[in-house]
Amino acid sequence: MALRGGIDLGGTKIQAAVIDDAGDVHGESRIPTPVSGGPEAVAGAIADALEEACAAADVKPRNLEAIGIGSPGVIDVEANTVTSARNLPDWQGTFPLGSVVSDRAGAPVRLGNDVDVATMAEFELGAGRDYESLLGVFWGTGVGGGIVLDGRLWSGRGAAAEIGHMVVQQENGLQCPCGRYGCMEAYAGRGSLEAIARRRAGNGEPTVLFEIMEERGRTRLTSGVWNRALKANDKLAIELIDNAIEAIGTAVGSAVNLIDPDAVIVGGGLGLKLGEPYVDKIVDAMMPHVFADERPPAVHMAALGDLGGAIGAALLARDAVTSGHRA
Ligand SMILES: [Zn+2]
Repeated sequence: MALRGGIDLGGTKIQAAVIDDAGDVHGESRIPTPVSGGPEAVAGAIADALEEACAAADVKPRNLEAIGIGSPGVIDVEANTVTSARNLPDWQGTFPLGSVVSDRAGAPVRLGNDVDVATMAEFELGAGRDYESLLGVFWGTGVGGGIVLDGRLWSGRGAAAEIGHMVVQQENGLQCPCGRYGCMEAYAGRGSLEAIARRRAGNGEPTVLFEIMEERGRTRLTSGVWNRALKANDKLAIELIDNAIEAIGTAVGSAVNLIDPDAVIVGGGLGLKLGEPYVDKIVDAMMPHVFADERPPAVHMAALGDLGGAIGAALLARDAVTSGHRA
């Protein structure tokens, strides 16, 4: 039985999984993403995470058939490099992530876009497995998207499916982390939500968001902090998350009108943490914008949880082997 490794490289954590042909997980691990040391430190941490997952699966990294890495930034699959990975500290320029991890692990490495691999994992093994086309919406620090059409990932010329940067406010739109104005992510991304909450709390608006953050020993408004504030009926948290849901619903409704997918899958750190009731709220926010509203797409929560990215990366490793792409 062939085992493959998958790595989900995120801004706060690195997750590794070892899976077999059927998609069953044999071992997994997670470690924090190094905050200093740049790409070399990140590559070392990836190899550490992989070794831990391999130990749990009782296999040596060098005996893996291949390793896939889902990474942010601009991926060059042929050169096995990552350029300007957003959210990762000190990652300007181009780094040969694939070959560095491959040398240490002793198995071939294939790189892919983090959101693309998470989308393909849901398509093959998760909430999208009964469908031929889908739109993945990953609601986290930013809002990433993935599109599968007729069973194949649609990447456009490399920058497709940026659902977070669909325009939901044409006039006086908030500024998005991308620098443009009125993008959905400016209203819904966890990074943007935190910036708005900090500004309004600084202006004296009452909220328990930052108390919960400190109680939990955090320095950022994590998904868990938002979830607790909502459960505590915090007025500011409720208002901001309601706005976020309106923005997501508007963008997803517009995207549905354009591509008419069988299904929409909602994942990401915040999406998974808030759960099904909030998926239902996204549907309610989407429906007024759907043109063919007599047959809207199915909308599901991502089924693979936050291991989906690592599982998808391992699927990428399988495709690398079957297509003859050896690093
Ligand atoms: Zn934007």
